[in-house]
Amino acid sequence: MNVDLTKPIFNDEDKAREWLEASRWPNGPACPHCGSVGVLRLGGKAHRPGLFQCRDCRGQFTVRTGQVMERSHIPLAKWVLGFHLMAASKKGMSAHQLHRMLNVTYKNAWFMAHRIREAMADSNPAPIGGEGKVVEADEAHHGRIETPIPSAQRKGRPYLKRDLSKQKRPVVALVERGGEVRAFHMPHVTAENVREALVKHADRKSRRHTDESNLLGFNWSSQHLSALIAAPHQELRRAFSNRASCAASR
Ligand SMILES: [Zn+2]
Repeated sequence: MNVDLTKPIFNDEDKAREWLEASRWPNGPACPHCGSVGVLRLGGKAHRPGLFQCRDCRGQFTVRTGQVMERSHIPLAKWVLGFHLMAASKKGMSAHQLHRMLNVTYKNAWFMAHRIREAMADSNPAPIGGEGKVVEADEAHHGRIETPIPSAQRKGRPYLKRDLSKQKRPVVALVERGGEVRAFHMPHVTAENVREALVKHADRKSRRHTDESNLLGFNWSSQHLSALIAAPHQELRRAFSNRASCAASR
């Protein structure tokens, strides 16, 4: 997906609002409170731009109402640019990068990144895998644990294990071979928890593979998984960019 940064919708607040209204309501605005199409655009200096009033329920709304932009003071043009950047970025985009590119505070960028990712998520995901397909489970460790557990023996100082992987946050990913990846943060990676995630997210008919950590009591090796262990980030990023490009082309 290409982003033409010179487009006025990325700089002009009115153009951005028009673009959002046209994409949300291609057949004319409808009230998000009651669904009525009998709505009135409130103009003039007394009202903020983009405000509508419903003739049926008398409720007021803008294009932000009920959307990820709701209750934020971030300009719509920045939101529109944020959507395009997040969707077009091949490797996903961090809140810090949004902060630098959109010229908003880091706090605002963090808020936007969360809301946009939330909007990209499939609200009713179908189970991955299926008959004849292989679903693999793997754990990786990423980032530092925020709250190391204090130790009574060490006068309240945290006990840090020598094994560096134990000081990081565990992430478990379920991978359909040649398909979707779903990754979760799991505070305690146990066979029980991984089984729970598999039951929830994977089709029962799929075959399951795990790596050498033997999470499910199986001990099948798989070349694909060793590649995943070597480069978990690339895999996750690829999954994210696939999903983002799907969301953008919809
Ligand atoms: Zn209404």
